[in-house]
Amino acid sequence: MQVLALRGHYGQAVEVDLCAPCHLVWFDVIESARLNGPAILELIGHMAQAQSLAHQPLRQQAACPRCRSGLKTVHNRSRWGRSLQLECPKRHGAYQSFAEFLFEKGLVRPLSSADRAALIRRDGHIDCVNCGAPIAGGDAQCGHCRSVPSLLDVARLARALDPEGATEDHPVHATATHRGALQCGACGAALAPGQAMQCAQCGATLAVSRLADAHRQVAVLGPQLQAHAEKPAPHTVARRMAALSADLPRQREWILRMRADTAGRHGGDEDDDELLSWFTRRTNPLRAVFIALLLWWAWWMWS
Ligand SMILES: [Zn+2]
Ligand SMILES: [Zn+2]
Ligand SMILES: [Zn+2]
Ligand SMILES: [Zn+2]
Repeated sequence: MQVLALRGHYGQAVEVDLCAPCHLVWFDVIESARLNGPAILELIGHMAQAQSLAHQPLRQQAACPRCRSGLKTVHNRSRWGRSLQLECPKRHGAYQSFAEFLFEKGLVRPLSSADRAALIRRDGHIDCVNCGAPIAGGDAQCGHCRSVPSLLDVARLARALDPEGATEDHPVHATATHRGALQCGACGAALAPGQAMQCAQCGATLAVSRLADAHRQVAVLGPQLQAHAEKPAPHTVARRMAALSADLPRQREWILRMRADTAGRHGGDEDDDELLSWFTRRTNPLRAVFIALLLWWAWWMWS
């Protein structure tokens, strides 16, 4: 078992256990949601590396790394096929297969027959997204780990690493438009439906079946993502501030509506709402502190 010390949002330490031969990761309940871009990139790098090892099915007596309790198997059926999660009965967390983790982040899609043919044409082989083993052209599942053959979406991966668009100028993001418009984002060439894996005109890679290939495509974003995690890129700070100020009138309206509801229900008007005073012009010492903090935060982001 490999213990990965990763970073979550706001610099929080997040510990993830990775079992390389079983192709599983352990997440303490909400850890998966908390990982920041550089941490997801690092985790995917470790997963890609683990795929060089032959797959081993998890031992029956596998235990929770926190309390050593036996784990219960939870089968999830989704449109991606069968996926498996091993949960601690005391709710300390769960093991997820690599494929399940990628699916949950919306980074993989099942292979169509056109995809299979296109992959064989381009790469000469299909790899298991979960364990990295080769999958024969017609197989419904991986012969080693039983995962459903899937494709990794490179543009979505880039987006998952960078939801705020700190690296949006990088060409890897240009491939995002391939999906919907069936048009190459990099060069504008029209793409035939079902073949959106690579632009025939400019060669931009859109989908791969090997995790290491997907990782290589987005690894170039690493330094920029790291810099953004340490100090947000100025254009994303401007966007955050705009979103925040656009939201204030909406919040005020919501509070007014809630208050009207309450007053209606109790048949009398309530005293001045403490919360509402945050959004009105009247003096409120708490609001002054809030605004001061906001200004300090904005200054810190920009300086
Ligand atoms: Zn293991
Ligand atoms: Zn436990
Ligand atoms: Zn496999
Ligand atoms: Zn193109």
